[in-house]
Amino acid sequence: MSQLSFWEKESFFAPQDVIIAGSGFVGLWSALQLKLKNPACKITILERGVIPTGASTRNAGFSCFGSPGELLVDAGTMGEEKMWQLVEMRYKGLLEIREHFTEASIDYDACGGYECFTQQSADWNDCVTKMEWLNKGLQKITGQQNLFKIADEKISHFGFKGFDHLIENRLEAGLQPGKLIQALLQKVQGMGVQVLTGIEIKSYQSHYHGIELETATPLNEGNNFKFTTQQLLLCTNAFTQQLFPAADIIPNRGQVLITEPISNLPIKGTFHFDKGYYYFRNVGNRLLLGGARNKDFENENTNQMQTTTVIQAALEQFIQQHLLPGTAYTITDKWSGIMAMGKEKIPLIQLISPNVFCCVRMSGMGVALAPMAAKEVAALMSL
Ligand SMILES: Cc1cc2nc3c(=O)[nH]c(=O)nc-3n(C[C@H](O)[C@H](O)[C@H](O)COP(=O)(O)OP(=O)(O)OC[C@H]3O[C@@H](n4cnc5c(N)ncnc54)[C@H](O)[C@@H]3O)c2cc1C
Repeated sequence: MSQLSFWEKESFFAPQDVIIAGSGFVGLWSALQLKLKNPACKITILERGVIPTGASTRNAGFSCFGSPGELLVDAGTMGEEKMWQLVEMRYKGLLEIREHFTEASIDYDACGGYECFTQQSADWNDCVTKMEWLNKGLQKITGQQNLFKIADEKISHFGFKGFDHLIENRLEAGLQPGKLIQALLQKVQGMGVQVLTGIEIKSYQSHYHGIELETATPLNEGNNFKFTTQQLLLCTNAFTQQLFPAADIIPNRGQVLITEPISNLPIKGTFHFDKGYYYFRNVGNRLLLGGARNKDFENENTNQMQTTTVIQAALEQFIQQHLLPGTAYTITDKWSGIMAMGKEKIPLIQLISPNVFCCVRMSGMGVALAPMAAKEVAALMSL
C-alpha cells in the first residue's frame, strides 16, 4: 500500500461526521437532507463504482406513485393504511424532486401515465369497482379530483393491439434518471459533500473514538484506505447484506431495452401492464420497455447485472404482440439493474447498531421514494 501524505490524511481522509455508503438516489438525497439539517457537518459518500452501480442510473425513469392495479394489490398485502402511507411518501418525493431541480435539467416530461388491461386481466373489474374509493384517497394526498380515469378511447390513438382498457393518471411523468443523479451529485458537492468513487466498504468496526471502515479499491489495487466517522449510513439497497447480513433484502434484477427512434411513434406517456410486471414509455421517439421478471422469477432473484435471452425474448414478444404490431424497429441498447425487495414493500429505515443506520429497500419505486426516505433517516441521525 502506498503511503498517504500528511496532506491527504488532513483532507480527503480526515475523520468525518457522517460517511454514506452508496451514491444512488438514496445516498445522494440523504447527503442533501443531512446538509440541510446541519450545513457544517462533514460528509463523505463512498461509492464502489466509478458511477453509481445499482439501480439508480439503470431504471425506467417513471415518476410514478402507484397505478390502480398496484395500489389494490398493495392494499391487499400490506393493508390500506400502509398503502396510502407509501403513496403519500412517493407523491411528496416527486414534489421534492421538482422543488430542487428544473424540468429541463432532468428531462422531466409531464406526459401522464396509464395502466393497460386486457379483457382477461383479472384486476380490471376490481379497478373499475374501486376507482371512486382510490380517487377519494388520492385526492386527500394530491388535492386533485378524479385522478384515475378510464381512457379506453386512447387505445387506438397509441396504436396498441390486444389491450381492451386503459386507466389514465394525468399526474404521472417520466424523467432521465442519469441526469437526475448528475444534478444531485452537483448539488451535494456544491454543498460541500465529498464523493469518492471506486471505493468499496468491506466492513466496519465501532471504537470509542468513532467507526472505522475497512475498504477495498478494485480500481487501485493495494490502496485499501481506512476511514473514520462518527456515524455511518448504509444506502446500499440490494447490496446491503454484505454489511448488514440480517437485513430483509431480496435482490431482484430488472431488465430493460430501448429502440432506435421510430418516426411518428404514437406511444406517448408512461405505461404499466400486468400489475407492473411490464412497463414502457416513450423517450422522445424511442420506445423503452422493461420488466417480464415474472417469466423467470428464479433466475431474476439475483444481484448479477446482466441481460438474459429468456427475458429479452419475452420483452420483444410483448413489443410485437401489443406495442408495435407490424412496425419494424431496431433495439439499440439492453441493460439490467438490481432492485431491493423484501418481505415488506416499505423501505427499511432504521438504526442497526450504535451510530450505524440504513436506508434501503426501495423496490421498484426509488425515484419517488428516495427524497422522503432520505428525510426520514436524516431525522433519525443526530447532527
Ligand atoms: C430495471 C429497473 C427499472 C426501474 N424503474 C423504476 C422506475 O421507473 N421508477 C422508480 O421509481 N424506480 C424504478 N426502479 C427502482 C429504482 O431504480 C430504485 O428503487 C432506486 O434506484 C434505488 O436507489 P438506491 O440509491 O437505494 O440504490 P442503488 O441505486 O442501487 O444505489 C446503491 C449504491 O450503493 C453502492 N454500493 C453497494 N455496496 C457498496 C459498498 N459496500 N461500498 C460502497 N458502495 C456500495 C452501489 O454501487 C450503488 O451505486 C427501477 C429499477 C430497475 C432495476
